[in-house]
Amino acid sequence: MQKKLLIIGGGSAGTILANSLDRRDFEISVVSSSFGHLFQPALLYVAFTNVKSHIVRDERSLLPPHVNLIHDQITAVDLNEQRATSANGAVFPYDYLVIATGMRTDTSQIPGLSEINEKYGDYHSSIARAQRLWKRLDSFPGGTIALGQGSPIIKCPPSPLEGIFLTDELLRKKGLRDKSRLIFFTPFPRAYSASPMNEIVEPLLQEHGIEVLTFFDLDHIDPATNTLYSIEGDKIECDLPIVIPPFKGAEIEYLPVDVVDPDNFVITDKETLRVKGTFNAFAVGDASNLPTSKAGVGTHLQAKVVAKTLSGHPAKFDGRTSCPFDLGNGRGVFVNGSYEAPVTKARPTRTNHLMKMAFERIYWSSLRGRLDPVMDAYFALTRPRPASKEQEPASTNV
Ligand SMILES: Cc1cc2nc3c(=O)[nH]c(=O)nc-3n(C[C@H](O)[C@H](O)[C@H](O)COP(=O)(O)OP(=O)(O)OC[C@H]3O[C@@H](n4cnc5c(N)ncnc54)[C@H](O)[C@@H]3O)c2cc1C
Repeated sequence: MQKKLLIIGGGSAGTILANSLDRRDFEISVVSSSFGHLFQPALLYVAFTNVKSHIVRDERSLLPPHVNLIHDQITAVDLNEQRATSANGAVFPYDYLVIATGMRTDTSQIPGLSEINEKYGDYHSSIARAQRLWKRLDSFPGGTIALGQGSPIIKCPPSPLEGIFLTDELLRKKGLRDKSRLIFFTPFPRAYSASPMNEIVEPLLQEHGIEVLTFFDLDHIDPATNTLYSIEGDKIECDLPIVIPPFKGAEIEYLPVDVVDPDNFVITDKETLRVKGTFNAFAVGDASNLPTSKAGVGTHLQAKVVAKTLSGHPAKFDGRTSCPFDLGNGRGVFVNGSYEAPVTKARPTRTNHLMKMAFERIYWSSLRGRLDPVMDAYFALTRPRPASKEQEPASTNV
């Protein structure tokens, strides 16, 4: 008999999972609050290089016909009663549940941030905001630009540094670099949190004349003067603040209440991906509190782990990540790691940059599972080596 599978979220994780299951075993419903699926990594290029390619597709077009796609917002999940409730009052009972709701930006955590991001835009929330940032950068006459993240939890840990390197590249192309000061601020003790990768990044920052302010935990912003203040007592005065907002889990009330952390990320077993205290509920992608980076690569692998488990072949997630990191000027590097294998130093190459650029083209096929053999081969070939005792373990911000 078919089991009722409810997937909340029609983004990367929900789509990959729905495409990975045998239709004979499951009656699959995906409830999604959005209509369009955004290829989020492209927001970086919308904001810093004015990319205008087709980066949104209809969620329906990415799902097989047998999957029931419902556009609605889930507001409550009762894990004891095995049902979810939507803003429209619809009730969705399930045998199995997968929470794939991603995460949302939350500017309210930092006073002054809403005004700043409304005025200057950002590159982690929407296409409109990324386009606004491009307009500000394109018309920037020279001066001080400060760029950094508003809290330690972030989508794609390399993305703040990618932003500052691409800003540097843009200003050089426009002949404005001599008239500009670039400041990169971070709450971490170094520019990139994983030290082997930082060994690559720091010389590059120096070479490009980018100033780095570490231990800068953003406390509040004065939007009238574009001054950023940190909890540690430092301040940055600038002409153009580019601030990546803090993130939170989806606005859903859960029963029992203790299955989410204070930021509403779902407390999830780091290997089985089961929601705390449950057997038939899983969380995948950015929605969970897993101690690994919030990135599409991990999301892909997590969705495959849950698909295998649901299909009767219990699998475990090893914390694997493989984030492409654009260093600007046509060079890139991959940040590879897992729970057991720390991030190692890798050589920046043009090929890595081109691989990142090519990913948008293959992304849509990868969601449908058409590239699974290629992806499996890639992950096998690039499997990181387990840590020796002296090495630091991989962390949330690898
Ligand atoms: C600037 C930027 C650069 C990035 N670069 C990279 C990169 O180079 N490499 C990489 O691997 N990753 C990158 N990422 C991260 C990657 O895009 C995300 O990690 C990935 O999309 C997460 O997938 P997800 O399915 O968990 O969430 P999402 O894809 O965000 O999907 C969440 C879904 O849940 C739905 N939803 C939310 N709440 C509800 C609700 N209450 N009810 C119903 N539906 C709901 C949404 O509508 C959406 O359909 C980048 C992200 C950004 C922003």
